[in-house]
Amino acid sequence: MRFATDDILQPFNTTWLPPGVEAAMLRLDRVHPLVSGNKWFKLKYNLEAAAGRPVVTFGGAWSNHILATAAACREQGIRCTGVIRGEQPPQLSHTLGQAQALGMELLFVSREQYRRMTDNVPIGWNGAYIIPEGGHNEAGVRGCREILQLADVSRYTHILCAVGTGTTLAGLIQGAVAGQAVWGISVLKGAGTLEMEVREMLEGTEEAAWQLLQGFHEGGYAKTSPRLLAHINDFYRETGIPTDIVYTGKLTLAARLLAENGAFPPGSRLLLVHTGGLQGNESLAKGVLCF
Ligand SMILES: *Cc1c(COP(=O)(O)O)cnc(C)c1O
Repeated sequence: MRFATDDILQPFNTTWLPPGVEAAMLRLDRVHPLVSGNKWFKLKYNLEAAAGRPVVTFGGAWSNHILATAAACREQGIRCTGVIRGEQPPQLSHTLGQAQALGMELLFVSREQYRRMTDNVPIGWNGAYIIPEGGHNEAGVRGCREILQLADVSRYTHILCAVGTGTTLAGLIQGAVAGQAVWGISVLKGAGTLEMEVREMLEGTEEAAWQLLQGFHEGGYAKTSPRLLAHINDFYRETGIPTDIVYTGKLTLAARLLAENGAFPPGSRLLLVHTGGLQGNESLAKGVLCF
């Protein structure tokens, strides 16, 4: 890949890190301008498996996965269709406008139809290669195993990431070394089966100790709270690192709350994985965030 390790692994300090605890951010948001963050890794082996066939995938109006797929397919000259949840709005979201400009064909379906299609993913859609919503499949996990190879991260004691489908978490757990703890921060409310799904993806191969933490969703998927928005601004002012409202802002908020509750003993070295997604902040009114 084209980037320097210095740009990818960024140590940071904040007022809330306890004495004797170090932290760094693994900046996946910098791997590609549009195929941001973990989606680059989830798409890697999926597009390889597509082997030039057209690609069909699924997502909502602000989906990072939809935009990443559009951009990656554009780069590789692959035709792609995004099945979008909900009726076509009079004006496309920032995300969908960009995806369409990159050549993705958008197919709007009702929420009910969308649920049917994603629960029971159609096979062999006119010979297309189907990537499930969020890149949530075995090829996605395989790509995510490579995230921790971007830099030498063996010295970190705790690896933390935001969790939607758990694909990235499963890859990080498999990529971590014995002795490292991998903590996933769920951004969903009541994600009852998520832990079991991650365990299934792992197939008992992991060496790292891991856990899924459920208390940091701030109201649910894509919901924000005043304390989340204030935290995102504070974190940016202290570190210069921008985060997003759906995933990485909740990750750094969780890290702070955990640190304040004494979850990290002195000598801990935290690695937070910035999974990208900054384009989603375009859904906010101007001025809510300070960057
Ligand atoms: C998609 C996404 C996630 C969630 O990844 P999963 O593998 O589905 O758990 C986390 N962060 C960002 C920024 C994302 O876009």
